[in-house]
Amino acid sequence: MRIAVVGGGLVGVATARHLAELFEKSNRVAGEQSGHNSGVIHAGIGYPPGSLKARLCVQGAQYLYAFCSSEAGQQVPIRRAGKYIVARNETEAQRLTELASNATSNGVQGLELLDGVPLPSVRAVRSLYSPNTGVIDYPALAQALVEDTKARLGARFILHLSSAVPLRALEPDAVAHPQWASAARAWHTAWDLVMVCVGGSTRPTSQMRILPIKGQYFELTCRCNTTVGAWRRYPFAGVHFTPSVDGRRVWVGPTATLFGWPPLHDPGFWRLVGRHWRFVVGQIRQEYVPLSLWRSLRELVPDLQPQDLRRSFYGIRAQALTRDGVLLNDFHFERNQNIVHVRNAPSPAATSCMAIAEYVVTRFSLDQHSENDP
Ligand SMILES: Cc1cc2nc3c(=O)[nH]c(=O)nc-3n(C[C@H](O)[C@H](O)[C@H](O)COP(=O)(O)OP(=O)(O)OC[C@H]3O[C@@H](n4cnc5c(N)ncnc54)[C@H](O)[C@@H]3O)c2cc1C
Repeated sequence: MRIAVVGGGLVGVATARHLAELFEKSNRVAGEQSGHNSGVIHAGIGYPPGSLKARLCVQGAQYLYAFCSSEAGQQVPIRRAGKYIVARNETEAQRLTELASNATSNGVQGLELLDGVPLPSVRAVRSLYSPNTGVIDYPALAQALVEDTKARLGARFILHLSSAVPLRALEPDAVAHPQWASAARAWHTAWDLVMVCVGGSTRPTSQMRILPIKGQYFELTCRCNTTVGAWRRYPFAGVHFTPSVDGRRVWVGPTATLFGWPPLHDPGFWRLVGRHWRFVVGQIRQEYVPLSLWRSLRELVPDLQPQDLRRSFYGIRAQALTRDGVLLNDFHFERNQNIVHVRNAPSPAATSCMAIAEYVVTRFSLDQHSENDP
């Protein structure tokens, strides 16, 4: 079977292991989201049971740990650091119990609900401990996956770096478009399956567009060795302390603010802002007013001082926004003939990359009818 993958982030690199040619527009793999994130291997705790995120995250984490303990992945820095999700009051404590039962439905193993938290500097009435949450060097993982694919497939795997593919030619209507028809036909006939996983470059459809959401990190000048997160209402935000793989550094964040110029003509964007404006304002303050971030962190770590925080790197999430102004929560794939578009692969897609690859290749190569998922 001839498979082409467009986009050399973690999803593309993992998919290319299933016998493929990989096209990446920049001169290295994992240069966008896959190389600018929290580096967390999520255990699969908070995702809705039955969702693709729940299933592929739990499975993907197992695949990552297995790959990194194999010979091919043994150079990848990885650590099962564990994570405490903490509740600061009784209302949050009740939600932690619900979260624990959600996680159990998702098949997450080894969770413990604790009174308080066994970290002297953290204030909490209750905590949920996840021993299988980990930290990893994702760019090193991407490189190891590429090397493993080269070793296993030899000349059958070709990595085309600095090769930007014209994405317009891969859209369902391109064959009927005078400008794109011949390029579109070439892609349809040359490959049995084309997987387009281009993150923030994903083209808008009549149903959704990509909203670039910036996640700013701050570095802590003091130490902690495990991941700590507060219970959170929004899937991608909330106070988080994440250690680096070597345990020498601790990141706080990421925040969630719009990156670039807002899509002012998009009614969906205004619906989103109208519904969540308090959250939006709060995130802008946390990113640009250091004292505001420090105040929210102090609820968790009372001894933290403003000078303990230093602005660090940022990443840009590719998050799908529907025309109704809803942030699409689950992973979303669309297929037209032999071309599969990954339209939404936000966190935990790095954790899930090997499971997503297996899912897409087995599901979409089986029959040739056009369908969307889910
Ligand atoms: C701030 C932040 C924190 C996160 N934290 C975590 C975490 O801790 N754990 C976790 O599991 N997930 C996390 N994520 C999510 C995770 O990083 C992404 O879901 C994942 O990396 C998506 O991988 P991808 O391959 O789909 O996209 P990307 O990594 O964005 O890769 C897309 C690739 O496509 C290439 N491309 C674009 N256009 C073209 C073209 N025309 N032709 C060829 N190539 C093209 C780009 O150059 C890029 O390399 C985080 C994300 C962010 C931004």
